[in-house]
Amino acid sequence: MADTKINYIGLEEKYGAHNYHPLPVVLERGEGVFVYDTDGKKYYDFLSAYSAINQGHCHPLIIQSLINQSQKLTLTSRAFHNNLLGQYEEYITTLLGYDKVLPMNTGVEGVETAIKLCRRWSYDVKGIKNNETKIIVCEGNFHGRTSTVISFSNDPDSRNGFGPYMPGFISIPYNDLVALENALQDVNVGGFLVEPIQGEAGVIVPDEGYLSKAYELCKRKNVLFIADEIQTGLSRTGKMLACDHENVHPDILILGKALSGGTIPVSAVLCNDEIMLTIKPGEHGSTYGGNPLACAVTITALNVLMDEKLSENSFRLGNILRAELNKLNKNLITSVRGKGLFNAIVIKSKNGNDAWDFCLALMKNGLLAKPTHGDIIRFAPPLIITEKQLLECIEIIKKTTEEF
Ligand code: PLP
Repeated sequence: MADTKINYIGLEEKYGAHNYHPLPVVLERGEGVFVYDTDGKKYYDFLSAYSAINQGHCHPLIIQSLINQSQKLTLTSRAFHNNLLGQYEEYITTLLGYDKVLPMNTGVEGVETAIKLCRRWSYDVKGIKNNETKIIVCEGNFHGRTSTVISFSNDPDSRNGFGPYMPGFISIPYNDLVALENALQDVNVGGFLVEPIQGEAGVIVPDEGYLSKAYELCKRKNVLFIADEIQTGLSRTGKMLACDHENVHPDILILGKALSGGTIPVSAVLCNDEIMLTIKPGEHGSTYGGNPLACAVTITALNVLMDEKLSENSFRLGNILRAELNKLNKNLITSVRGKGLFNAIVIKSKNGNDAWDFCLALMKNGLLAKPTHGDIIRFAPPLIITEKQLLECIEIIKKTTEEF
């Protein structure tokens, strides 16, 4: 069996691009909070595919929706109408309180769409001179991998060697309202693009009040507040949106990942007519965006979040998780942070590789988590996890810290 596993990894190594560095585990099945490797070993999934699996692996209702719709109609392109698109659009805009939605596929396409909407609104509505608008972004951001989006990243791995870079972005420190206020003095600023919690940076939670004050500052200058909730949205932080913690209703909201409960790539950009209707037929789109399969699956995936009260579960269990993690060896785990079930720990780094080594030890003990930046580990299980299961996971983490 072990040989077969090595072969799976070997095949990827030989025939696939080397653009990822996964943990050495080969998964072949997932159910709820668990995944199983090719040897049948069971693990708790503490990454949830970067929060795309909020509803758990292969949720029966979501999979049933996928099967039912895939036997009827999967793709029409937007050259024709389909019978589910309008229904889905009405459902999600009503749920989240926007006039309109623009459906795309991957998260980064959602971000690109938001940037285009912001730019077009800046010219057509705000009256900024053509080609001169700017969008404020935050240092440490992660909004995806396209050449525009990496242009305003300050992570060398994401950015270096991929120039020339797209102009039109001003980068300021995250969680810094003074820097935002200063940047907003530029009359050509059209938008402020922000992650309510910076996920890829290592679950960086800003000070309480940051989002609401940033929103107010933007409003004063007629600047669009654009929230990238691709990772933080859809119950992950204990509310439907992370912005809900501060009662902020973003002008442009970007969602992805868990919109389809981990089945197919679905993203969405929501805003009101004043912004959305600046884009006219033929000016933006995507072959798969708004396909009937995605519409059917997304309605079900959103229903599951609400029917199973996953925001509430995430909120409650997140508090337990952090309280328990805070009791662990402080010489090893130097910091615990997060909101809801979106969390990270910082491992005391001796050799720069400690987070990776700790994740290998967790894996051996039956829990899969992802290291980042050498010393940070994200803990973000599917939101359907029960308290009993969570306590079992805390035991695994505790045991691992004792062995490490
Ligand atoms: N924005 C945020 C906040 C993300 O976390 C990610 C992915 O991790 C993206 C955008 C990009 O999404 P995708 O990988 O689906 O393009």
